[in-house]
Amino acid sequence: MKIADINQLKISTLLPSPKGVALALLEACRREDVSIHQIAKLIQTDPALSGRLIQRANTTNLTTRAITSVLDAISRVGLIVVKQLAMGFSLIDQYQQGPCKKFDYQEFWSHSLLMAISMQELGKSTRISAPDELFACGLMTRIGCLALATIYPDKYAELIEQQAPGKSLIGLEQQYLQTDHNELTAAMLINFGVPNIYAESAYYHEAPGESGFSEGSRPYQIVHLLYLAKQIADFGLAKESERSKRISELMLLGGKIGLDTESFGTFIDQVMQEWQLWGKMLKISPAELPPPFHKMMNASAPREEDVTDTSSLRILLVEDDPSSLVLVEGLLSDILGHTVFTASNGQQALSLSMEVLPHVVITDWLMPVMSGLELTQSLRATEWGQNLYIIMLTSIEDEEEVITAFDAGVDDYITKPINIRAFRARLRAAWHYRKLQESWERDREQLKRFAAELAVTNRKLKHFASTDVLTELPNRRAGMETLSEVWSIANRSGQQMAVMLIDIDHFKKVNDTYGHAIGDKVLKEVAASIRNTARKGDTFCRMGGEEFLVVCQNGNIDTNSVILFAERLRQHVKKQQIDIDDIHIHTSISIGVAIKEASMRSEDHLVNAADKALYAAKNAGRNKVFLAINNKLVCCNASN
Ligand code: GH3
Ligand code: MG
Ligand code: MG
Ligand code: MG
Repeated sequence: MKIADINQLKISTLLPSPKGVALALLEACRREDVSIHQIAKLIQTDPALSGRLIQRANTTNLTTRAITSVLDAISRVGLIVVKQLAMGFSLIDQYQQGPCKKFDYQEFWSHSLLMAISMQELGKSTRISAPDELFACGLMTRIGCLALATIYPDKYAELIEQQAPGKSLIGLEQQYLQTDHNELTAAMLINFGVPNIYAESAYYHEAPGESGFSEGSRPYQIVHLLYLAKQIADFGLAKESERSKRISELMLLGGKIGLDTESFGTFIDQVMQEWQLWGKMLKISPAELPPPFHKMMNASAPREEDVTDTSSLRILLVEDDPSSLVLVEGLLSDILGHTVFTASNGQQALSLSMEVLPHVVITDWLMPVMSGLELTQSLRATEWGQNLYIIMLTSIEDEEEVITAFDAGVDDYITKPINIRAFRARLRAAWHYRKLQESWERDREQLKRFAAELAVTNRKLKHFASTDVLTELPNRRAGMETLSEVWSIANRSGQQMAVMLIDIDHFKKVNDTYGHAIGDKVLKEVAASIRNTARKGDTFCRMGGEEFLVVCQNGNIDTNSVILFAERLRQHVKKQQIDIDDIHIHTSISIGVAIKEASMRSEDHLVNAADKALYAAKNAGRNKVFLAINNKLVCCNASN
């Protein structure tokens, strides 16, 4: 992509630009010697801006300590983001209305804000970039539209009028104005000093497929998030009658980033709430809040009482166990109102499926003659089987097995014993899939795009397979992978590495005193607080129960720094008070530290050494840091 140099554009002097403090800030940031204190001082001269920045910093602040000063806010979100936010907020204030008669300035900002909030929340669940950074990026991604409305108010009003199916605004812009809003956005962002990765992602946000970014790379992820954020914003501002049409596509996009039907609904509702709050604060006139997402989903999905031929699914149920077969068949046909065909093994199912052409196949895994996995592979090998929605029934929630099933081509899986709510939600997704397919079958081009998008559903799986659900930390499997990788690197490069095993002290007591639910919350809080103290190059994971592993791979590890870090963690948890409603809980951790030694032949030796140190820390009374070194165990507590 070639981004135009803004100074060479004849229109540069007409572009929307910030005034006052934001402008001074932009100029100050161009000086190399500017200090963070000077920036803070500058911002403080504008109380409204200061207030908004502090508010922003607190929105995504994960620690318990509230941010109260501009200086803290800058350190929290970073100078580049502060600058970008100041720019955005200033433009919002200045361009509440303008000369272009067909350009709805309020709606424009409302849309931009909704993109910003969507990016922020997506940032929390995907961890591609800091949420603040993504907020700022979302806010400015369509600034090129405002630019065109500002520079060419009359012509742009005409183009807005001329839009029609097959006559996109961007096409009209290129035809009549020799530029387009994405090009201007990118040029303006670069001029504001925004990192290239965001400018380029903004440039391609309406057609991520054209970016050519390699799959899985950071720009690839950002441009797809922006695409999703734009869909959410379009959805939020769509007329009521338009919304239901957009739901299916939104849900599929949600699936791509690993959110299932239920959590995606919750996610959208949360985004909409935040949108209202920020709208008020920035004085953007409010758009009407859409109804809760699950209500809209239910409205567009078949309801039990009014199932008709067009809304019920043809389901082929494959199960060798006669009693489960009867049970699930009853559930599907009597309670959920679908048409059900049954088979007792894969081979039977394969021949029956060609006869009845089901929309959905729900298959057991282990069956005589032909297993569910083989059935899936056989179905996927046929052309018509590509569009089937296949759900696998599994009895154990084993990550490896789930991966195998997805690799074989299943779309979803349900664990036995079957929970009716989960079943209903899963079938709703299948139903949406079918509905979407029907409308897309009329349009082959779109169908192709959909197939490409479906391939990305794997991301859902990857996330599931490597993340601990309760603490959202990497799970044991991911931790062990990191450990092996770091071990190999250390072996090759001769760099140092260290591990720590952390175990919460007397955790059973927390459960016994307050119950398991509170125990879970405490576990989550402790996990969050140790994660927040992590340094660059440290990987935290939950090994299981109330035990965590930290892999430290800084190039410059020495015994002292690792011990200091462990001590800091220990003291941090010791000092922390965890408040859950009116219960206040104090807890402590014990840490076993081990540093790679020449005599250790594998990463297991390293972890065993840390484990011994942890055991010693527990024996010495808990709330201790112990180091395993040269076959000795040393207590390293600085103080209590
Ligand atoms: P110690 O200081 O020796 O580590 O004592 P402890 O009570 O923490 O250790 P122990 O290993 O005996 O018990 C760990 C407890 O952690 C037992 C289990 O009930 C609880 N636990 C493990 N996983 C979870 C979880 O996911 N949620 C909750 N609430 N409790 C958990
Ligand atoms: Mg079976
Ligand atoms: Mg414990
Ligand atoms: Mg334990």
